[in-house]
Amino acid sequence: RKPVVVLVGRPNVGKSTLFNRLAGERLAIVDDVPGTTRDRLLAEGEWTGHVFDVMDTGGIDPTTGGKDPLSIGSADYIEQIRVQAKAALELADVVLFLVDAEAGVTPADLEVAQILRRNQKKEEDGRLNPPVLLVVNKADNNALRNMASQFYELGMGDPYAISAVHGTGTGDLLDELVANF
Ligand code: GDP
Ligand code: MG
Repeated sequence: RKPVVVLVGRPNVGKSTLFNRLAGERLAIVDDVPGTTRDRLLAEGEWTGHVFDVMDTGGIDPTTGGKDPLSIGSADYIEQIRVQAKAALELADVVLFLVDAEAGVTPADLEVAQILRRNQKKEEDGRLNPPVLLVVNKADNNALRNMASQFYELGMGDPYAISAVHGTGTGDLLDELVANF
C-alpha cells in the first residue's frame, strides 16, 4: 500500500501550494482538462523512488472557497481545525503540519499542535504514530528561515523551513518524509 501523507495547518499557511508542488507534473497535466476541479484533494507524489499519496485538507478551509465560509476566530473555525487535525491522524502514515514563518506562532497553530500531540499513538518502542513533521513555510529568505526556531514552542520537534512557492528546503523535507515510510 502506498503511504498517505496528509497536509494539515490553519488556513493560509500554504498547504495547497505545497500540495501542488508535491503533486508535480502529473497534477498540472490533469488540471489542464476542462471541467476538472482545481481544488484537488488527493494526488500522487514521488521522491527518490518512493511513491506516495498526498492529501490536502483545504476542502474545509474558509479561505479556499468552501461552501460554508467560517470567520476566523469563531468557535466554528476552531472546531473545524480540530476536526481536520483528528481526521488527518486517522488517515495519515505521515502528517505534514504547516505553519507560516512570516506570521509566527498563532493561537490556531497552538490548537492544531495540541490536537496532534494528544491524539498521536505511542508505540511500544516509544515512537509516536503517525509521525508529524513540522513544516515552517514561507521561509523565502534567510531572515525568515531564522524565524523557524520559534516554532519549537509547538512541541512538535525540529522545524523544517521551506518555501513552497520557491521550492527551497523541500528536498530536505522530502528526504525526512520518505525516511518515515
Ligand atoms: P492554504 O490555505 O493553507 O491552502 O494556503 P495556500 O496554499 O492557499 O496559500 C495561501 C497564500 O500563501 C497564497 O497567497 C500563497 O501564494 C501564499 N504562499 C504559499 N506558500 C508560500 C511561500 O512559500 N512563500 C510565500 N511568500 N507565500 C506563500
Ligand atoms: Mg488550501
